[in-house]
Amino acid sequence: MPEGVRRSVEDADVLFADPVFVGLHDYDEVPGYPDVTYRRCAHVVYPYHQHRIPKSMRCTTVVLPTPKPLRSVLHEYGHVLDEQLGFELVLAPVSKYAMTNREEAFAEAFAAWVMRERWVIDDEPASLRLCPLALDTFERLADDS
Ligand SMILES: [Zn+2]
Repeated sequence: MPEGVRRSVEDADVLFADPVFVGLHDYDEVPGYPDVTYRRCAHVVYPYHQHRIPKSMRCTTVVLPTPKPLRSVLHEYGHVLDEQLGFELVLAPVSKYAMTNREEAFAEAFAAWVMRERWVIDDEPASLRLCPLALDTFERLADDS
């Protein structure tokens, strides 16, 4: 991950455990996905979801209960970056999952942008060209190193 972008997300905590078991949050059902549980899927938990722990201890947390591919981890850091930028940018979807909502579109664009720097992925560079705002945003952050 480029230095300027890394600095934007490095204050997030990372949890490699069941977030419900350790008390980070108390919800486990993923709306719209009856076969998925937050106990086992990668996700980001923002401070306002951490009502089981004291406010002074709350911190945006990347939750990775099971090993995930790099792209999935980057997707979660995309959510962290989205929070840092105020959840305001509306980016064009770069994947089918990105069409879920504005937040997933942002996270998917971020993951695709970082991965493209290291490997060539068949369809994502072409998709990213459809969203100059994503490229401008991420490259401006990367240049801030
Ligand atoms: Zn996501």
